[in-house]
Amino acid sequence: MTENKPQHLIGMSHEQLLLLCEKAGAKPVHAERLLASIFRHYNTDLDAIPELPTVLRDYLYKHTTPLEMVCTARQQAKDGTKKLLLQMPDGKEVETVLIPGQGRMTQCISTQAGCAIGCTFCLTASTGLIRNLSTAEMVAQVMEGQQNCDRNVRNLVLMGMGEPLHNYDQVAHFVRIVTDPKGMAFSPNRVTLSTSGLIPGIKRMMDENLPCNLAISLNATTDAIRDQLIPINRKYPIHDLLAAVREYIAKRGNKRVLIEYVLLAGINDSPQDAHRLCQLLEGMDCTVNLLPFNPYPGSPYSRPSDADVSTFRAILVEASMVAVVRESRGQDISAACGQLKTEMHDQGRKTA
Ligand code: SAH
Ligand code: SF4
Repeated sequence: MTENKPQHLIGMSHEQLLLLCEKAGAKPVHAERLLASIFRHYNTDLDAIPELPTVLRDYLYKHTTPLEMVCTARQQAKDGTKKLLLQMPDGKEVETVLIPGQGRMTQCISTQAGCAIGCTFCLTASTGLIRNLSTAEMVAQVMEGQQNCDRNVRNLVLMGMGEPLHNYDQVAHFVRIVTDPKGMAFSPNRVTLSTSGLIPGIKRMMDENLPCNLAISLNATTDAIRDQLIPINRKYPIHDLLAAVREYIAKRGNKRVLIEYVLLAGINDSPQDAHRLCQLLEGMDCTVNLLPFNPYPGSPYSRPSDADVSTFRAILVEASMVAVVRESRGQDISAACGQLKTEMHDQGRKTA
């Protein structure tokens, strides 16, 4: 919390709110009141927060600024998935996606505008990194999402635009804020951070006991193929990555890790790949999510046949692994995995 930057209340933890109240000469109970108003009732209007002493309200007006996130477009897919385009104060845009499931709503959060990793199967990669999002900009996505659905959001997945571990500090702060039991109170088991495999970030998550689940985008079973798909693999190859994941599981105890595997026809979807995957993950406490590739214009890859997907999964199941085929949702509005790239804005410009 630096003094010279405008501070956004929605990016502050309980401890930071306590500090703010102390500086303003207000009692700790008012930090609790702020916390409840902002993170439980999504009320950030200082005049509408009940029972704030005038001295604190004046201090907050002077030392904090509201975050102006504007929802500039909404799209709804046939399956009920909603995609929101949000414009940040500097005009940059990010997307967040609301995915209805059986009795629960999952929201996909972006952690960066664009992404620097450059995976060759992902549309977000095509812009490169535009910039990191602040914690407040991630919290604002949750608030905006909540206002755009009739059910409570139960799960948060950090699987939108960006590589969360390339923006570690802001993302970790976000995870702690959304899981604060006195605030938004998401269960740590219902917040999942997905990474392309940045080992130092995984170690930090482990050392700091970051209250969320870990998902690893493995996507290949040999370094030769993974190097082609996820360039960061040259720095953090499969063997080292999986060793870090095993260490994470061992240290975090009952934490079950999610292994994501995008299936690309003729690249990583052969029965040999499936067998190699079983060997790589042998004895690891994990669930494998198989994601058949979502094609987009200009992509060099294609989606495997349903038969190939079933064969791949059957080999994993035969080896006693938990493997689920995840069909991406919201494909007709390009809200599916890896399809986020502020496309609605592009469409708007074209028609303007
Ligand atoms: N940067 C993080 C999180 C965002 S991507 C990561 O890479 O893990 C979320 C998931 O979508 C990743 O597992 C990624 O491999 C997958 N994905 C990206 N593009 C895809 C596409 N075109 N089809 C299917 N899955 C895709
Ligand atoms: Fe970035 Fe993830 Fe897309 Fe790779 S798959 S470019 S890490 S958002």
